[in-house]
Parts: sequence; structure tokens; C-alpha cells
Amino acid sequence: MKCGPERPNLSRMSELDAEICIVGGGLVGLSLAAALGSAGIDTLLLDARSVESGLQPEFDGRGSAIARGSVQILETLGIWQNCTRGAAPILDIRVSDGRPGEPPSPLFLHYGLEDLGKTEAPDRAAGPMGHIIENRFLRHALVQRIAALSSVRIEAPASVARHRVQSGHVALTLTDGRQLRAALAVAAEGRNSGLRAAAAIGHKTWSYRQVGVVTTLGHEEDHRGTAHECFLPDGPFAVLPLTDEEGSGRHRSSLVWTAREAQCERIMALDDTAFAAACRRRFGDSLGSFEQIGRRFAYPLRLLLADRFHAPRMAIIGETAHAIHPIAGQGLNLSLRDIAALAELIVDARRLGQDPGNPDLLARYTRWRRFDAVALCLVTDGLNRLFSNDIPPLRLARGLGLAAVHRAGPLKRFFMRQAMGITGALPRLTRGEAL
Ligand SMILES: Cc1cc2nc3c(=O)[nH]c(=O)nc-3n(C[C@H](O)[C@H](O)[C@H](O)COP(=O)(O)OP(=O)(O)OC[C@H]3O[C@@H](n4cnc5c(N)ncnc54)[C@H](O)[C@@H]3O)c2cc1C
Repeated sequence: MKCGPERPNLSRMSELDAEICIVGGGLVGLSLAAALGSAGIDTLLLDARSVESGLQPEFDGRGSAIARGSVQILETLGIWQNCTRGAAPILDIRVSDGRPGEPPSPLFLHYGLEDLGKTEAPDRAAGPMGHIIENRFLRHALVQRIAALSSVRIEAPASVARHRVQSGHVALTLTDGRQLRAALAVAAEGRNSGLRAAAAIGHKTWSYRQVGVVTTLGHEEDHRGTAHECFLPDGPFAVLPLTDEEGSGRHRSSLVWTAREAQCERIMALDDTAFAAACRRRFGDSLGSFEQIGRRFAYPLRLLLADRFHAPRMAIIGETAHAIHPIAGQGLNLSLRDIAALAELIVDARRLGQDPGNPDLLARYTRWRRFDAVALCLVTDGLNRLFSNDIPPLRLARGLGLAAVHRAGPLKRFFMRQAMGITGALPRLTRGEAL
């Protein structure tokens, strides 16, 4: 006997009809498509831009810190296997407080594999805390994986003009007039989601009045797998290990320089030599001299948190649901946990012959995922407020705080496990189990 709301029997209205329609093919929409496709679910992915445009080097200059739990998800979905060439392991993390042109404070926090308990890292061979991968490589790996999944179709460029919830399905009308039906629409359109607004899902948002200036740096010395986060008065300055350049062997790191909005124009206008010198003044000499490789990008930073992650026949994921400050490199990691949870709920419902757009399933998705998002919004917002200033008593307090956590084993382990995404109610994919 089947229990719960039964799967609707969609008589086909158009060749675009699908069981699940994902709107938005950024890293998050693509990852969900790969997850559903790996479980054989009929999935249509729509994106406003062509797939090819997203694979160009000038599309996205960021590298992402992918935590160990997220690597597990990507590995289980057969995506990580296509990433290994471009992924640099994070072996150590060094967090310090400082000012441009001054040596970093002697009070710092250092995370290494040796700080983890036996379960997480019996020895260094058990694997790193995470990896840094350039977004273009990850996007490429996702597209490659999806191409091998017969149940996923991509329609791009294509945008949704209107959605209407009807009995047993949601009807989507595209801007070119085509129509389709799905049991569930998933909005992965990023922060300015039209579907979230159309479904009247409220959200809180504010600007940090900061930008993330991002580029790739070449440098003289080997980074040895160390990720550096230097807290400067205007915001964090992160230098994250990348793989050496193919062919030349040049050492490379990904830079995320958080600056105040008012400084952005000046930083973006610096010529490459002056920019590299400004980076060295902020970072210090441990990697030798810097040179900028490729373009510089500027990403405005803002917080966004949706009041709920669902509406009738709609789920929202990724930055449509939550956008956080990149201070801890957790935005995409958080979204990968959304994907693992939503895909699990959909696959389980389908096994029981239930409707994947049923209200109970969608409410469970919000309950499962919103707490994690609220917690990360609070933590990243708080860290940015605490560190992005030059108030002397606060500087001293945070320096002492970093040094205290550095010495307190259990507290340090707690922070490390959170950042690695291996705590809480973990979906099957995060535990390395297939959907
Ligand atoms: C400077 C910086 C550094 C970061 N570093 C890290 C890190 O180290 N680790 C980490 O985990 N996270 C990091 N993040 C966060 C991470 O990059 C984002 O969370 C992630 O890229 C968001 O992806 P998304 O797919 O949700 O949204 P987007 O990338 O915004 O994708 C949305 C997609 O939807 C499409 N779209 C929009 N509207 C429509 C429509 N109406 N119809 C069809 N398609 C539509 C767009 O074309 C686009 O392809 C960082 C963020 C920044 C800004």
C-alpha cells in the first residue's frame, strides 16, 4: 500500500515537461541536476545563459574552498573524479590579525590535520580538510557529469516569465512563450530570484558595503597547502592554495581581498604591478613576490536569508535561499548540503510512489536546512563585524581569542568539524552513501 500523497500522472503538455524543473544553472543548479540525474529522475535544467558562456575563463574568477563533507557529496555523485586535476588540498589553515604594511600579529590561530581526532584524520593520508578548486574547473566537471546522465536535459538560454500552481503540477511559461509542466520547480536563480519573488517568499537582506576583489596570484615560494586568512581593518584578505600552473609549474594561489565599497574603484584601477605590490604589502613576504595572473573580478557582498525555503510546488536552493559573507568560504558548501537533503527527500518520496511536490516533503526540506543556513548567516556576519575594524580594544580581544582557540584542543576541533561540514543531521550523500 502506498502512503502519503501519490505521484501525479502528468500527461505531457510539451516536450519540455519534466518531473523536476530546476531554474538556474549556476554551480548549485548544476549540482542538483547531477544529483537527481544520478538517481534517474527526469530533470530539466533551465538557465538564462548558454552553457558555453559559463565555461569561459572570464565568466567567474573565483576559486572555492570545498570542505571535506562537500567533497564526499561530489565524489558520491561522480563529479569529484573530474575535478582532481584542478583541486589543491588544504593541509593547514593560518588565521591572523594585522594591518597593511605591518607584520602579522604574533597572536594567531593555526589549524592542521594533527588537530583533528582519530576518527576524522587517523593520519595525514586520510585526506586533507578540504580543497580549493577554481570555479571554472568545477563547472566543467559538473557539465561533463550531466552530459553522461540520460535523465537530465539542459535548455539554455531559457528564462521563466511566469509560473502557475495547478492541481498536481506547476506550469511554467518561458519568456519565448514555450510552456512546460513539472511536479516540482526548484529555484536556483541566485540572489535576485524572480521565482522566489513570484512565490511571495519573503527574505532579509543587507549590503556589507564591501566587495570581494578576486584574482589568481602567481608567487615565488610554494604555499605547501596552507590557506591564509589575514584579518585587516577593511576586511579579510585570503590567499588560498591552488594547483601549480600546468606546463610552467608556477606556484599559484586564489586571492579574495575584501575591501570597502568606496575603495573598490581604486583597487580595480591599479595596474598589475601596483596591484601585486599592494597584495604583498598586506600579506607579507612568506610567498615571495606576487604577480597577477588573468583578470581581476569584483563581487559586491551582501547577506540574504529567505523566510522559508519552499512555496507550493517550489523549493529554493543556493543563493536564492541564502547568501552569506565569503569570510569563511562556506556559501557553496552550505548549498551542497541543501542539494544533498532535497535530492534525498525527492528520491525517497519517489521510491514510495509519492508526489515530489507534496507540501509535507517541502516543509520537511525547510525544517532540515534552514537552521544550518541561519547559523552560518549569524556566524559569518558576526565574524565580519568583529574583524573588519581597527578599534584597538577589539583588536587585542580578537588576537587573544585567536590565540586561546589555538591552544584549546576540543574547541579548535569543534570549529574544524563545523568548517569541514561533517557535523549535524547529515544527508546520505554527505556520508558517502548513494541516493
Ligand atoms: C568572493 C566570493 C568568494 C566565495 N568563496 C567561496 C568559497 O571559497 N567556498 C564556498 O563554499 N563558497 C564561496 N562563495 C559562495 C559561492 O560562490 C556561491 O554561494 C555560489 O556560487 C552561488 O551559486 P548559485 O548557483 O546559487 O548562484 P549563481 O552563481 O548566482 O547562479 C544563478 C544562475 O541562475 C541563472 N538565472 C538567474 N535568473 C534566471 C532565470 N530567471 N531563469 C533562468 N536562469 C536564471 C543565472 O544565469 C546563473 O547561472 C564565494 C562567494 C564570493 C562572492
